[in-house]
Amino acid sequence: MIHIAHLHKHFGTTEVLHDINLDIHSGEVVVVVGPSGSGKSTLLRCINKLEDITSGRVTVDSYDLTDPKTNINHVRTEAGMVFQQFNLFPHMTVLENVTLGPVKVRGMARGEAETLGLELLDKVGLREKARNYPDQLSGGQKQRVAIARSLALRPKVMLFDEPTSALDPELIGEVLDVMKTLAREGMTMVVVTHEMGFAKEVADRVIFMDQGKIVAQGSPTAFFTEITNDRLRSFLSKVV
Ligand code: ADP
Ligand code: MG
Repeated sequence: MIHIAHLHKHFGTTEVLHDINLDIHSGEVVVVVGPSGSGKSTLLRCINKLEDITSGRVTVDSYDLTDPKTNINHVRTEAGMVFQQFNLFPHMTVLENVTLGPVKVRGMARGEAETLGLELLDKVGLREKARNYPDQLSGGQKQRVAIARSLALRPKVMLFDEPTSALDPELIGEVLDVMKTLAREGMTMVVVTHEMGFAKEVADRVIFMDQGKIVAQGSPTAFFTEITNDRLRSFLSKVV
């Protein structure tokens, strides 16, 4: 589903991603961990072309992101992204936030988009909040709306960039539960998170990034028990 070969990303003269090679299969859940500044967000942003790729190749489904002829809007609908900050439109209801994409990007009729929107709000447990505004919701509820909004474009891949880092601890579980449901349903997911419990329970593969490189990776069992890399050991001793 995602193919990354020899990806390099520079900001000016600084190289922040160094020769990343990564293949992610359909239905696979990959959790990415690593210290702040190691390039996790930049990697996610290269997968849906929020960043230009300096060199190398990135393909998502059948779309080659490095081909200038590829339609960026198609890529963005293939790979949905959920951020630490929810970025909901404050002047729109919850349902309007969710239906905006299907109507504007997919050209879906309003009635059909609302049916889909209510279905997705039901999935994230927020159908009864459809007519509320974002500022009437808790952080956990806002993030669940943001997930529903991404799903409304029917992405093949979901990218999560520290989706629970801005939440009060008691609200983290409800967001992780929605993500677990998506994983169980077979969604291909790349998740940057510090929630090691989620990684152990849900990931098919865990990847450790440091200084712009993939330094270690493996199944959760192997990753958390057979630690051969010193930087990974030091990182885990701080977060677990
Ligand atoms: P992480 O998500 O792992 O914390 P990032 O991908 O955000 O790391 O950042 C990786 C490196 O790239 C950091 O050194 C950061 O300062 C730098 N960086 C990120 N975005 C930009 C940008 N737009 N311009 C310049 N440098 C950036
Ligand atoms: Mg980041």
